[in-house]
Amino acid sequence: MGGRPLPRQAPGPAACRPLREPGTPRRRPVLRRPRGHGGGQTPLRSAPPPCGRPWSWSRGSRGRVRGRGANLFDHLKLGIVRPRLLVDVTGLPLDRVEVLPDGGVRIGATVRNSDLAAHPEVRERYPVVSQALLAGAPPQLRNMATLAGNLMQRTRCPYFLNPDTPCNKREPGSGCAAVHPSDLAVALCAVNAVVCVRGDTGARRIPVTALYRRPGDRPELDTVLEHGELVTAVELPAPAMAARSRYRKVGDRAAFSFALVSVAVAVDTDGDRVRDARIAFGGLATTPWRARRAEAVLRGEPATADRFAAGALEELATARTVRANAYRVALACDTLVATLCALCEEG
Ligand SMILES: Cc1cc2nc3c(=O)[nH]c(=O)nc-3n(C[C@H](O)[C@H](O)[C@H](O)COP(=O)(O)OP(=O)(O)OC[C@H]3O[C@@H](n4cnc5c(N)ncnc54)[C@H](O)[C@@H]3O)c2cc1C
Ligand code: SF4
Repeated sequence: MGGRPLPRQAPGPAACRPLREPGTPRRRPVLRRPRGHGGGQTPLRSAPPPCGRPWSWSRGSRGRVRGRGANLFDHLKLGIVRPRLLVDVTGLPLDRVEVLPDGGVRIGATVRNSDLAAHPEVRERYPVVSQALLAGAPPQLRNMATLAGNLMQRTRCPYFLNPDTPCNKREPGSGCAAVHPSDLAVALCAVNAVVCVRGDTGARRIPVTALYRRPGDRPELDTVLEHGELVTAVELPAPAMAARSRYRKVGDRAAFSFALVSVAVAVDTDGDRVRDARIAFGGLATTPWRARRAEAVLRGEPATADRFAAGALEELATARTVRANAYRVALACDTLVATLCALCEEG
């Protein structure tokens, strides 16, 4: 017979099903609880914080704050978090960037990452912050993700993101070695930023270097925030040297890739000597790593590659590695030296 061959008929469900021996009992269908919020028992609500008392939403609730959901919605879909209520803070008046009377800048918690990266004050006076944002998530995500959501995003450890594998961060246990994923947090460490938070019991200010917790025996807690506390803003102090600053990120790819190593530096020179420097590493530890030992080594020293390398080695001498990640120490050292050399050469 000529003509086109008929497409092979796909086997229907009956063809895939094993035949039942006559006389064997029919199996009962297994009912699986759907993954995701609360096993589907109560529908998940999304609501703005209560009018007039936006800081007391969490009392007695199993609520969770949501920014624009770029990180949180993945966790809901995977069933990693199961809140009863999502509190949408994007309607609060926290979407402004203001220059403060002392010359610093206050950034509202819901300012979008792309707006912040493009803000003229930030680009000119805190280039390290703008560069870290642009080195981060792809443009579509930056266009929606919030400042607070970026700082509060959770680890990308593949075991954490796979509900079928054990993980101390998901099911509280002891210890965790997952690195913190935020590029912005590393840059904020190098400009001595302060995170403003507010909760039921009032407002407080936390230096960004003290925001993140080491895992210890509570690895499920990433930050020092209490349940129900909101990040309301981040303040950047008047830029003593942040105007001469840079962020450099090394990853598997230039886009869609979290840092293998990143470096944020701000430097002040006097002729060919370093007057002061601020350095932070990303991709190396469970929290952004402020490199105070390296800063001390560089202060007052010639701005040369040798001295920069000496500072990096002094700092990273405390790093504890295993075979699979030991290369990151050398990578961090080289990245720091290259970044400082480039910044100092620019004058
Ligand atoms: C494909 C992809 C690539 C990415 N690459 C990078 C990258 O290279 N570098 C990088 O730094 N980031 C990267 N990200 C992360 C991205 O920047 C974050 O997912 C995003 O910033 C989260 O912002 P959001 O407003 O959507 O937060 P949400 O997802 O809504 O919230 C994230 C977390 O913050 C908490 N939260 C939100 N707002 C507040 C608040 N005001 N107070 C207290 N807690 C709050 C939420 O409860 C939640 O736990 C990437 C994300 C994706 C999906
Ligand atoms: S405890 Fe930390 S390192 Fe271990 S699987 Fe969980 S997130 Fe990853």
